[in-house]
Amino acid sequence: MPRRRDPAAPAVVYRTARVGLRLTVGQRRRCFGLLRSAGDVWACVLELNAWRRQRRDKPLASYQELCRELAASGPGTFGELDSTGARSVLRRFSDAWFAAAKRRRDGDATARFPRRRRGLVPVRWYHGTFTLDPGGRRVRLPTARGGRPLWLRLARSLPYPAEQVRSVTLLAEGGRLFLDVTAEVPVTVYEPGCGPDPARIAGVDLGVIHPYAVAGPDGQALLVSGRAIRGEHRMHLADTKQRRRAVAGRAPTRGQRGSRRWRKYRRRSRAVEGRHGRRVRQAQHEAAKTVITWAVQQRVGTLHMGDPRGVLQLAAGRRHNLRLRQWQVGQLIRILVDKATLAGITVHLVDERGTSSTCPGCSRRIPKPSGRVLTCPHCALTGHRDLVAAASIATRTPGGGPTTPAGSSVVLPGVVTHRRAGRHLPGAGRSRRDPRRPPAPRAARGSVGQRWPAPPHSGGESLAHTGEDPQHPPETR
Ligand SMILES: [Zn+2]
Repeated sequence: MPRRRDPAAPAVVYRTARVGLRLTVGQRRRCFGLLRSAGDVWACVLELNAWRRQRRDKPLASYQELCRELAASGPGTFGELDSTGARSVLRRFSDAWFAAAKRRRDGDATARFPRRRRGLVPVRWYHGTFTLDPGGRRVRLPTARGGRPLWLRLARSLPYPAEQVRSVTLLAEGGRLFLDVTAEVPVTVYEPGCGPDPARIAGVDLGVIHPYAVAGPDGQALLVSGRAIRGEHRMHLADTKQRRRAVAGRAPTRGQRGSRRWRKYRRRSRAVEGRHGRRVRQAQHEAAKTVITWAVQQRVGTLHMGDPRGVLQLAAGRRHNLRLRQWQVGQLIRILVDKATLAGITVHLVDERGTSSTCPGCSRRIPKPSGRVLTCPHCALTGHRDLVAAASIATRTPGGGPTTPAGSSVVLPGVVTHRRAGRHLPGAGRSRRDPRRPPAPRAARGSVGQRWPAPPHSGGESLAHTGEDPQHPPETR
């Protein structure tokens, strides 16, 4: 339920940051207890509605009705979970139910009402029910009356001032506990004459190799490289495949209870999966932040972003489908729009069809370049393929094609700023080596010393990669 705000108050947006938790064993157990109790609340609502359906009664879906049922259950029904936390689960159910009902009303027959039980359900507490430490490193979650206070230590200080925080959500992902902190963040206000100018337009081309290629006014351009993200995807896929092959023999058949080793493997793969997701997400946010910082510096007030999602519905084969899914273009769009709104920049999605196959100089069709450099065979125009596309996108309007015929207003990029996304990814910089990757040979790193331990007989295969002990090669054992 949104609060009533003063219409004259400065504009705000709501932003959520996920913060890890540093917990003792006891705190961890209590937190999981809260999530499990929330799962019980969820299951109770499903059960209740199943009974009502059998009696041909109307299902209970409105928040008020559900709250009345919760109040009737009495204290202590849901363990340590307090009524605010339990009500947040009812709110979640109610929202999901009405969202499904609306989609069904609009003719979407695939929309389903919530019906699946879940072991752990996230719990949210709104402003005033939790306490933030003045240092911003600890938070106290409310628990059922009579219990001990539950203080949790945060893994990092909050990215928002404590007075802006509106709600916290406790959740588990891949066996780890996190706190989602939602804050009310005011939209950036600039000094007069220094802020983004809506008349200054930049085009954004979304791509796999370059998640964002931006062509701005005055021939300024920005290229954000996503090779580290792609590398992370590739290493993760290879790692997962190898892991799967290794345990295939132990996999339980259908209906068979898995062994302890199998459960350990499952837990490990969930942890690896979660880390991979966090790494990629972090890199995507960095990439978007680079774009917005650049746009503010260039005083760009409007971004025209080519929306490629129309072409993604076509099946394009196994490998290419995987590539497109890993691209997560919807995510890239959402992240950039969110950051742009916060910075006071408007984003328009425009049709990007033909921007990478039409020359902006002579507006004739050109063959798809094999590399990154585009050269027009008709007018000898040459430039970076993504930036040329971005420059064409900048001239498009949300309604349709180019604003001016023959692409006469296309500003081709002259000064290109290069940035990389995902410097934290292992293998992207020199500081961190990816443990999934075999160690690089010494010579490649610029050292002239003797390699120790001596390289094995097979050239490319290294000992660390096969997991053998260098002191005891297999043949001597
Ligand atoms: Zn041309």
